[in-house]
Amino acid sequence: MQSTKRDTASWQAADKAHFIHPFTDGASLHKEGTRIITGGEGVWIRDNDDNVLLDGMAGLWCVNAGYGQPKLIEAASEQLKSLAYYNAFFHTAVPSSIELAELLAEVSPAQFKRVYYSNSGSEGNDTVIRLVRHYWDLVGKPERKTLIARNFAYHGSTIGGASLSGMPWMHAQGDLPIPGIVHIEQPHYEALGSGLTREQFGLKAASWLEEKIIEVGPENVAAFIAEPVQGAGGVVVPPSSYWPEIQRICRKYDILLVSDEVICGFGRTGNWWGCQTFGYEPDLMTFAKGVTSGYVPLGGVMVSDRVADVVENGGIFNHGYTYSGHPVACAVGVANVKLLIQEKIVDYVREDAGPYLAEKLATLNDHPLVGYTDGIGLMWAIQIVKDKSTNALFDYDKQVNAICREFARKNGLIIRAIVNDRMIIAPPLVISRAEIDRVVEITRRSLDETLVELQ
Ligand code: PLP
Repeated sequence: MQSTKRDTASWQAADKAHFIHPFTDGASLHKEGTRIITGGEGVWIRDNDDNVLLDGMAGLWCVNAGYGQPKLIEAASEQLKSLAYYNAFFHTAVPSSIELAELLAEVSPAQFKRVYYSNSGSEGNDTVIRLVRHYWDLVGKPERKTLIARNFAYHGSTIGGASLSGMPWMHAQGDLPIPGIVHIEQPHYEALGSGLTREQFGLKAASWLEEKIIEVGPENVAAFIAEPVQGAGGVVVPPSSYWPEIQRICRKYDILLVSDEVICGFGRTGNWWGCQTFGYEPDLMTFAKGVTSGYVPLGGVMVSDRVADVVENGGIFNHGYTYSGHPVACAVGVANVKLLIQEKIVDYVREDAGPYLAEKLATLNDHPLVGYTDGIGLMWAIQIVKDKSTNALFDYDKQVNAICREFARKNGLIIRAIVNDRMIIAPPLVISRAEIDRVVEITRRSLDETLVELQ
């Protein structure tokens, strides 16, 4: 609770003076003024001036259980009262970290019984780099060091995470990627699949992995890492032929398959994990965000028996974080996973909210600015186009999706403008049908206003 309410101008002045924001152009932030968010309930957030907005992005794709869930709040406060901190280093653990590990094993595919905790998705993916290289050292194949990732992937912002990511503008700052990380093209049918059916294209996109493995030398490749559905890269849903073929190629060359489930995990695609939606069996899964519904930072890696058996019997793995298995984060994780189970929220996404959002978004396809919609479960993209007949995009400089995002915000809806003129909608998983109607109604209105602005 804030004891005295500060006015927005005062917050903005202090923010400008003292706070460097992530992934933000400071000059434009200071010109426009920071929006100060002070409250949240369900799918709604409130700003410092009591404006209420529907959060169609679940924060940063993370508030899966919605804002203000009493059970998560109680779990945090009870844990803070009993034991705010203890570490997991010196043969110790706290009950909440063990209970969460047990629960994660319960909701994960059968090959995953063990977890390695981090505090974020980025640290989870850094853990992946270290873990796979350590694994291959332990099994006597130390030359297997290279990780293959994809263009326009987002795997985080640490040196390792940003290197695995395939965002050119990130690589341009700080001489990334680090050595031993290479990229292939993404399975983006509309952009790259001309002349092929979707399923043909899925196989072709998977064949780029095999080509890269051969180029690097199979004996040098440690792992392939990818998101089930590329999130920050634009919500690019791969053809159904893609993932099974990727799985086959990884098995053929004995390459570890890593599923970055930081967005897709904990129900977003309508199953607990994206790999279940797309039918593949990874060796490692990175998670973060939805594990605590973003209430407190927590991430980690689900480690399959194949890898865990070797690493746990391989001496000390010289890796870890002060907050690995943090009691409060894990207590909230336990409450959150139990809530998702008890309230059948993952089923709700798969059987009700996801199909309903898909159906409603399809009604936007007649709009002059909408080329098509792409998505699954509760993660969707609206492709903004200049020409519906060819799906040609506007000039990048026009930033049409950013114009639309601003109209949406003015109309009371948070949606995200992302690479290649896509608008992203990924609300809390508890969104009701009536709230989905509102999302789509405001989106249409904002598209209409964007069209007028462009004329
Ligand atoms: N992996 C994916 C797929 C993500 O979308 C993100 C963040 O958006 C990350 C990793 C990095 O997670 P964090 O921001 O918690 O470090």
